[in-house]
Amino acid sequence: MARVLITGGAGFIGSHLCESFLERGDEVICVDNFLTGSRDNVLPFAAHERFTLIDHNVTQFIEVGGPVDRILHFASPASPVDYLELPIPTLKVGSLGTHNALGLAKAKKALFLLASTSEVYGDPLVRPQREDYWGNVNPVGPRGVYDEAKRFAEAMTMAYHRYHGLDTRIVRIFNTYGPRMRMKDGRVVPNFITQALKGEGLTVYGTGSQTRSFLYIADLIRGIHRLLEAEDHLPVNLGNPHEITVMEFAKKILELTGSKSPIVYKPLPQDDPQVRQPDIAKARQLLGWEPEVQLEEGLARTISYFSQHLRG
Ligand code: NAD
Ligand code: UDP
Repeated sequence: MARVLITGGAGFIGSHLCESFLERGDEVICVDNFLTGSRDNVLPFAAHERFTLIDHNVTQFIEVGGPVDRILHFASPASPVDYLELPIPTLKVGSLGTHNALGLAKAKKALFLLASTSEVYGDPLVRPQREDYWGNVNPVGPRGVYDEAKRFAEAMTMAYHRYHGLDTRIVRIFNTYGPRMRMKDGRVVPNFITQALKGEGLTVYGTGSQTRSFLYIADLIRGIHRLLEAEDHLPVNLGNPHEITVMEFAKKILELTGSKSPIVYKPLPQDDPQVRQPDIAKARQLLGWEPEVQLEEGLARTISYFSQHLRG
């Protein structure tokens, strides 16, 4: 049994991670300040005897008694709407929060995993994006607060690995979706599904020709567990190589919900990446991993979650 600390454990991905470690028989300490996450996300396992919830902002020193074997650093706003509204907390959690989480990992001799993002590639000039692509990020644009914080977090993680010999992993997560996303977090999946279910217009930004690739949460969690067991300190992409345009995605949601909602057009946010598609050759080779859940199936589960919550 391992003692695992998860920052951002009350968020969308973090709560699924907490649950996966509990299912494996590990002890889980979730550290979250509920900035964009919620207690509801951990409610299904909040009373578990191997689960502890600590309300704490990780930009402040993190104090935990006893041994810690693994630290997974997931705390950070992740929706563009959230991080545009919270620019300074986003920069602070990516920089100070990452430093504190790394410091704790060093003190506890714990294995450290950083949740990085496809946003480190910015608005990429190559497609698909491989881990050795350095990216095309506007440091002073509105998205820079997230992109640069994550790039700093990667650099800090590698410095702790190289300088302090800390055992580290970096996962670059591409658009992941599923139950427990916040209904109003502004990302395309909750937006389109709730709009379709309520009969409101689906808000397509720009012409909808920009592309994304959507990974179902269960596939991501499986990939993260494999990465923890692999011995590679450089970043690994986890995402779904199946790329579609935002317009195709809107039509898919209408089809799967049976909704008659219209498509309404809104301005494209500044620096919105025009393409995004992971090259997952490294994950395939290193982890024997690839996505298994088809888009229709993952969306059906997510639609069912949102319809229950809209009714409830
Ligand atoms: P989320 O907003 O649901 O979860 C983030 C969690 O971090 C929330 O519970 C929030 O309250 C917590 N948090 C934020 N600042 C904190 C602080 N200072 N101290 C303590 N807790 C804090 O978002 P998510 O989609 O679950 O993303 C989780 C992580 O995965 C983030 O680091 C994000 O950058 C990364 N990621 C997610 C995606 C995706 O598609 N969902 C893609 C790439 C990277
Ligand atoms: N998007 C959209 N309508 C929405 C929300 C998002 O057309 O209501 C677009 C957005 O401009 C982007 C893509 O969908 O091109 C994915 O956006 P999201 O906010 O989910 O995350 P991103 O991939 O940009 O980080």
